[in-house]
Amino acid sequence: MSAASSEWSRNSWKSRPVAQDVEYPDQEKLSKVLSKLEALPPLVTPSEENISSKIGLILSFSLILIWGARLPVVRGNSHSSMSSSFFEVIFHFSCTHSLSGMSVRIGRIAGQYAKPRSSSYEKLPDGREVLSFRGDNVNGQVQRVFYSGMNVYLTGFLFFVSISLLFTTSIPVLDPGFLPLQKPKCQLKILLDLDVGLDPNDRTPDPERLLKREFETIVDGLSDALDFSRTIGADAGSHSYERGGGRGTLGEVDFYTSHEGLMLGYESALTRELPVPASVAQPASSAPGSAAGPIKAYYNTGAHFLWIGDRTRQLTGAHVEYFRGIRNPIGIKVGPSMKDDELVRVLDVVNPDKDAGRITLITRYGASKIDDHLPGHIRAVQQSGHPVAWICDPMHGNTQTSSSGLKTRHFNNIISELTSSLRIHTECGSRLGGVSLEFTGELNDEGYSVTECLGGSMELSEEQLGLRYQSFCDPRLNFEQSLDIAFLMSNHFKK
Ligand code: PEP
Repeated sequence: MSAASSEWSRNSWKSRPVAQDVEYPDQEKLSKVLSKLEALPPLVTPSEENISSKIGLILSFSLILIWGARLPVVRGNSHSSMSSSFFEVIFHFSCTHSLSGMSVRIGRIAGQYAKPRSSSYEKLPDGREVLSFRGDNVNGQVQRVFYSGMNVYLTGFLFFVSISLLFTTSIPVLDPGFLPLQKPKCQLKILLDLDVGLDPNDRTPDPERLLKREFETIVDGLSDALDFSRTIGADAGSHSYERGGGRGTLGEVDFYTSHEGLMLGYESALTRELPVPASVAQPASSAPGSAAGPIKAYYNTGAHFLWIGDRTRQLTGAHVEYFRGIRNPIGIKVGPSMKDDELVRVLDVVNPDKDAGRITLITRYGASKIDDHLPGHIRAVQQSGHPVAWICDPMHGNTQTSSSGLKTRHFNNIISELTSSLRIHTECGSRLGGVSLEFTGELNDEGYSVTECLGGSMELSEEQLGLRYQSFCDPRLNFEQSLDIAFLMSNHFKK
C-alpha cells in the first residue's frame, strides 16, 4: 500500500507501526490524559504572528550570524525540560517557511519534552544499567502543555523587552541595561566587562579575550549601523519593513515554536481543524468569506514547526502518516541510513504538491560520514524538483561516550560537520539554510558554564567533563562554545 493512498485523519497513524512508542501499562489512564489535552485551548494558532522569546544567548548568537551573513535569521528554537533547564536552538539564515502558505519568519521555543533513544537502556558511569530517559512528557503530558504555554508567554515577554533594548539604545549590547536580560552572572559580562580591557600589544591567544575582541568588533559595527539608520530616519518606530505576510518595525523579531513530533497521542490530541488564514487560503474563489465558506485544514496547535526524527521517519510508519496531514511547516531529520530514493519517497508522501516552504531537511550524519551521504541526498532532491530548505544539525551524529562513561560531543567534530556541510552545499549548487544546535547559557551559582561538550576555545578536556555536567539528556554546547560556533559561521559568511 502506498503511504499516501488512504484517507488521512487525526488518528490514521494508529493503523501503522509506531517506532519509538512508549508502552503505557494503564491504557485507560492514558486515554483520560489525552482527552484532557483535547479539551485544552491551542498553544498556537495558524494566523498568529508574534511569539517572541527571551534568551540572551539566542540573541547574541543570532546577532553574530546576522552580522556576518548580512541575512536575516528567520528561525530560532529553544527547548527546556520540565525538570532541568535544557536549551536548544535552530537557526535558519534566510530561507522562509510557509506556516500557512505565506512566507513568514519562524522561530521556535517551548516544547521538546519527549526524546527518542537508540537503546531502551543506558549505562550509568558507575556501571549500573537503567531505563533510558525518554523525557518528562512520558509521565506528564498535561503538564507539558502548561509548561510550554508558560515558556511561550513568559519568555516571550522577556524577549520582547530585550529586542526593544537592543534597537533603542545607541550602543545597545554594551549597555549594562542589557545585562539583566541575561542570566544573573551571564558570561556576556565577561565578554563585555570593560575592566578587563584589551591590550593591543597582548598577543597571548587567551580564548576569553579573543571572544571578547570579536564580540566587541561586532558590537562596534552594529552601533555604527544603528547610528546610520537613525541618521537617515530608518530606525525603529519611524519606518517599517516588509516581512512575511505583514509589516513590522525594525525592533520586532518573530519567534515561533517547535519540537520533534514524537509522541503521536499527544500530537494528535493537540491537532485541530482550523480555518486557513484568509491571506493564504487557496484557491481565491473559496477564500474565507466567500460563498463556499472558510477553507479549513488540520494544524498541530502545540507548535508552529514540528519535525520527524531520524528514528521515526519510516515511509510506512505512523509518524510519516501523521505528518502528511498537518498543515504546519515540517522538518525531516536525515541521517546516514537514509537512502537517496527513500528521501525522495518520503518527500512525495509529506509534500505531494511540492509546496514551497513546507519542508526543511535537517541533516545529521556525523563528521566522518557527511561526505558519503550529503552529496547524494542533495542531488536526489534537486532531481526530484522538491523545494526544500536545508539545515545542518552537527550535534546528533557526533555523540560519543567519554572514557568516564559520560555522553559527550567534541567541538571539533561539530565544527567539522558544519564546515563540510557548507562546502558540500556550495559544491552541489545548493545552499545551507541553517544550523541546529543544542546549547545552553546556563551557569552555576559561581557563574561557570556547564561542561558537557569537549573542546572549543576553552579547550574543555575529558577530565573536566564531570565538573558541571548537568544534562539529563544530550550534551550541550556551553555559552563560550556556542559563541565560538557563531563567530565561525559569521566569519564564513563574511568572506
Ligand atoms: C533531536 O533532534 O533531538 C534528535 C534526537 O535528533 P535525531 O532524530 O536526528 O537523532
